[in-house]
Amino acid sequence: MTETECIFCKIVAGEIPSAKIYEDEDVVAFLDINPTTRGHTLVVPKRHVATFLEADDETIEKLIKVSRDVGKAIVKAMNADGLNIGINNGKAAGQIIFHLHFHLIPRYANDGLKCWPQGKYEEGEIEKVKEEILKVMQEK
Ligand code: AMP
Ligand code: ZN
Repeated sequence: MTETECIFCKIVAGEIPSAKIYEDEDVVAFLDINPTTRGHTLVVPKRHVATFLEADDETIEKLIKVSRDVGKAIVKAMNADGLNIGINNGKAAGQIIFHLHFHLIPRYANDGLKCWPQGKYEEGEIEKVKEEILKVMQEK
């Protein structure tokens, strides 16, 4: 997707409407139109970057700070009991819009959501996984 076709670039530019709750010179936050829970918010950089893994340090620093501040406000305003912060990185991870965004999802004690099913490693597998990751990290 090019920047001219990108729906979040259009929201940033004010070309299509959104329920904006925060804006500064680098970052915008607006309500997700299909909320997981009431108050579900997206925090996006104004400058187009497709995914979290491609973003530079400055962009991530700004997004995480705004996410903390906006997160505090929505938890208070929605009278929520907690907050999930999520990033879908890539199609296989559920990313649909390829303009980086952090999901801020207020959580409620009785909301019934179960976000992360968990499995188990076979005997010895966790060590192998650790070694595979360390090998790549040591290449840097
Ligand atoms: P993702 O799957 O991480 O790419 O999430 C994209 C999110 O954008 C979804 O939760 C959508 O509901 C949300 N979304 C799509 N279009 C809009 C829009 N025009 N305004 C607000 N949220 C949107
Ligand atoms: Zn964009």
